[in-house]
Parts: sequence; C-alpha cells; structure tokens
Amino acid sequence: NDVINRIAAGEVIQRPVNALKELIENSLDAKSTNIQITIKNGGLKLLQDNGTGIRKEDFEIICERFTTSKLTEFEDLQKIATFGFRGEALASISHVAHLSITSKTKMDICAYQAEYNDGKLKGQPKPLAGNQGTVITVEDLFYNMTVRKQALRTPSEEYQKIYDLVTKYAIHNPTVGFALKKHTSSNDLRTPINSNHIENVRLIYGNTIASGLIEFHIENKDLEFNLKGYITNVNYSHKKYQFFLFINNRLVDCQGLKKSIDAIYQTYLPKNNHPFVYLSLELNSYNVDVNVHPTKHEVNFLNEAEIIESITTALEEKLLGSNS
Ligand code: ADP
Ligand code: MG
Repeated sequence: NDVINRIAAGEVIQRPVNALKELIENSLDAKSTNIQITIKNGGLKLLQDNGTGIRKEDFEIICERFTTSKLTEFEDLQKIATFGFRGEALASISHVAHLSITSKTKMDICAYQAEYNDGKLKGQPKPLAGNQGTVITVEDLFYNMTVRKQALRTPSEEYQKIYDLVTKYAIHNPTVGFALKKHTSSNDLRTPINSNHIENVRLIYGNTIASGLIEFHIENKDLEFNLKGYITNVNYSHKKYQFFLFINNRLVDCQGLKKSIDAIYQTYLPKNNHPFVYLSLELNSYNVDVNVHPTKHEVNFLNEAEIIESITTALEEKLLGSNS
C-alpha cells in the first residue's frame, strides 16, 4: 500500500517545482502576506509564511490523502475542486520526501512542530517558540524513488524552473511579499509587500519591459469571464517569449489560448520579437473542467472557443491601437 501511495504521489510531485507550487498555493490560501522560500541543491529546503497557521489538533490529519480544511459544504466541492485535486499535496509530499511542519495560529500560545512519513504523523507535535504562520521543510525528495530521482535535471535547471514559478506568482500576487534564495546565499528574488503588478515586473524583468507594459482588461458578461493582464508590444529584448496565464488564481496552461495569442503577435510584431504576456482570467468556477488530473496543468472550460475568440479580438485591437 505504501508503494502504491508512493507511485501515486510521484505522479503528483514530479519535480521540486511541483511541490513548491502546491506549498505556495497553500500559503496564499492561508492569507499569507509574506512568503520566503529557501532552495538547496535545486530542491526545496523550506518555505516560511505568515498565514493563518495550522491548529494543533489538525496536525494529525493534514497529511492524510483527501484531507482538506477548504471544503465546508458539498457544493464547495464543485467550486474548489476546479483544479482537480484537493487535500493531496501534503500527503503526496510526505510519501516521497522528508516533510516537517512547524506552525502557529493566532489562538495558540506556542508553535508546534511535527514530522511526517508516508502520510502519517511521527509521534506527537512538539511545542516550540515561533511566530504566527507556517514553516514547511521538504528534504531528500525522492529518497525512496530512485528512478524519479534520476529523472531530475541538474540543480541549476531545477532551480531555474523554481525561479520562473516564483516570479509568476510574485507578479500575479503583488500584495504578497516573496523572497527566494539558495541555501546560504542572499536573496535572488525579493518583492515587497503591497507592491503592484508593474513594479514587480520591473523588479524581475527590468525597466524596459516594465515601461512598455500595456494594461489589458476585458469584461464579458455573456460569456461570464473577466480578464486582466499586462502585455507588451514594443521590441522586447528578454531572451524568451514570456507568456503566463492564471485562471481563477491558479497558474495553468491553455494551449488553445496561447496558440491564438502567438498567432496575433506573429502577425503584428517584427520577427524575433519577444513579447511579455501576463493574463489573469476569472471564470465562473462552475464552467471550469473539474476532472483535471493533478499532473495536467492544461485546463478546459466552457465556451472556450468563444472566450478565446473574444480575447484575441480585443488583443488585436489593443496592439493596433497602441501602434498608431
Ligand atoms: P488542500 O490545499 O487541497 O486543502 P493540502 O494537502 O495542500 O490540501 O493541504 C492540506 C491542509 O493543510 C490544508 O487544507 C490546510 O488546512 C493545511 N495547510 C497546508 N499548508 C498550510 C499553510 N501554509 N498554512 C495554513 N494551513 C495549511
Ligand atoms: Mg493545497
């Protein structure tokens, strides 16, 4: 059974960046305003947040599969399960790594620390001094899965994926301060609390891109969507095309939308131009496909073709308008 759980967990967590994405989303769900991440050898070391924390009595269950504090009514299942799986992240991590959690809520007078193995709490949570919030330590990822471990890239490649992930979350969540550093070094990335989208783009990509940003906003009541984002149309010297999409605040892929946007840029911009495109799409969560497997970041939603059409038409107008 442990082996089956481990294989399932290895599907959810394929590399350090997948684990980190889950942890960041948990910190954001817990209303953190400050998230600090430390990386060691291309793997996760720890993540510290200042969110609501975990109650002592919940330590027992948080690493059991399908345990979540985020479902209150059955109806929520539809809403919250938008991105496929709930209550599986910490459980999965505990099956494929050494996981330790320290947390303090506002109510508790001290923090508690616990270690997990294969979904189970080891011993009892230990009382400890600490501030409100949660510290999650993930070490020795895939220590028990040789093949998965061998499939990992070099530490610097894994780190690059992590860096890219954190920059996207930082741009999407400018009110939250993010810090990312390698084990002993100083921060490679730091965004302040209560920043804004443009300022964070400036910090991460530099002034040229930040000053070329165009705000892009569509509200469509018929198709029940709302899109906000920032795009560039000036010659953009970053080494690669930057395109990232959040749907209902989750970083996802949508090939259909991306391809249509690529095509617009190919029509209107000179060759070898690398635009920056950040989009935040809000959909009625009832319209998003709930049957998405955790490893699939690709999302499908109702009226997809019409929504893509509406977005690309608006983008075309925006790019033409800003050129003249
Ligand atoms: P889910 O996020 O789908 O609920 P997870 O396995 O990611 O499932 O987390 C399990 C539970 O652990 C969460 O529902 C939440 O109650 C708690 N939790 C995890 N991370 C944090 C955190 N950083 N701050 C507060 N609570 C957390
Ligand atoms: Mg989670």
